[in-house]
Amino acid sequence: MDTGELEFDTRMLGADFSGTMDNEEASLRPQHLDEYIGQDKVKENLKVYIDAAKMRGDSLDHCLLYGPPGLGKTTLSNIIAAEMGVNIRVTSGPAIEKQGDLAALLTNLNPGDVLFIDEIHRLSRSVEEILYPAMEDFALDIIIGKGPAARSIRIDLPRFTLIGATTRAGQLTTPLRDRFGVLLKLELYTPEQLSCIVQRSAGILGIEITDDGAYEIASRSRGTPRIANRLLKRVRDFAQVRGTDIVDREIANYALSRLEIDHLGLDNLDRRMLETIIKFYDGGPVGLETLAATVGEEAITLEDVYEPYLMQIGFLSRTPRGRCVTRLAYEHLGIAYRQKPTPAEQMRLFDPPASDE
Ligand code: ADP
Repeated sequence: MDTGELEFDTRMLGADFSGTMDNEEASLRPQHLDEYIGQDKVKENLKVYIDAAKMRGDSLDHCLLYGPPGLGKTTLSNIIAAEMGVNIRVTSGPAIEKQGDLAALLTNLNPGDVLFIDEIHRLSRSVEEILYPAMEDFALDIIIGKGPAARSIRIDLPRFTLIGATTRAGQLTTPLRDRFGVLLKLELYTPEQLSCIVQRSAGILGIEITDDGAYEIASRSRGTPRIANRLLKRVRDFAQVRGTDIVDREIANYALSRLEIDHLGLDNLDRRMLETIIKFYDGGPVGLETLAATVGEEAITLEDVYEPYLMQIGFLSRTPRGRCVTRLAYEHLGIAYRQKPTPAEQMRLFDPPASDE
C-alpha cells in the first residue's frame, strides 16, 4: 500500500523535549521498582534507602535525580512514593513563581509525602531560599508586614521528601545541591534494556511485536525509553496502514527509514549538527552558541537532548575550546576524514627549520 501521502513528524526528538505527556504515555509508566527496567545501580541503592527509612518509620531523605530528558526521572519519583506508601505532589521549577506558591505546596503536605519538583534548576533564587530551611529543618520562615513593622514567623512543616529532577545538575546552586542526601544519576539505556521496555510497552498497547522488531526500534532510540515508546507507536502506525498485524524487523526498518532515523538512531538535526561542524568549522572546535545559531536550534536543546547520545557513541567530543567531531562521525556520514596537523606541526608551519645556506 502506498503511504506516500502520509505526513509524519520527523523531529522525534524535538517533540520529546516539550515534556508533554499523553494518557498513553502515562499508561506505559512502570508502577513498581521491579517493573522499572535497567538503571540497576540506582535501583539497588534506592531499595536500601527505602527499606531503611521504612524500618525506621521515617521519611526518605531528599533525592536529586539527574540525567537527560526521557530517561525515567518522573517515573522513578512516582515509584519511590508508591514504594514508600505515600502521596506525591508534582510541580516544576518554572511553575513556582513566588515564595507563596511553594509555601502553599509545602503546608499542604502530609507527613512522609513526596514533593516532586521537575526542572529544579529553574527555581528562582527567592523561592530557593525558602526551600533551604524547609529541607533542612522542616520549617518555613515567613516575613509578615513591611518596613519596621515586618516580623518573621516560623511555621513547622511535616517531615517530607523532596525529589528534585534536573537535566543539568551542574546548574544547581551549591547550597541547594548540598541539601540532597541522595544523588542519583540516570544513564542512557543499552539496546537490550530498551528492547525489554519496547516489548513491555507493546504488551500494554496490544501491539504484537517480534524480538528482532523490538530490537530494531530499541537500537535506534538513542538510549532513551521515551523515544523508544514514541518510535514504537509510529512504527505501529506504519504497520497498520500497510495492513500488517505484527511489527517485525522489516516493518520497523521501513518505518524508521521513512522517519529519517538512521540505524544508529540519528535524526536530521543530529546529522545537520555534525555536518555543520565538519563543513563550516573543519571538524571543530566550535563553541556551542555558534553551533546552535548555525543550525537554528537553541543551545540548551543541543546540549541536553542531542549531545549526550552523540558523545556516548563517540561522534562528538567536548573540549575547553568547543565541540569537535570525531573520525567515527566522518565515517558514519561518509565524509572523507582529513587528519589535522597537531599543535606542534602547526607551529612548525610558522617557524620553518633554518636552512643550511
Ligand atoms: P523523565 O522524567 O526523565 O523525562 P519519564 O519518567 O517521563 O522521563 O519517562 C518517559 C517514559 O519512558 C515514561 O512514560 C515511561 O513509560 C518510560 N520509561 C522511563 N524509564 C523506564 C524504565 N526504566 N522502564 C520502563 N519504562 C520506562
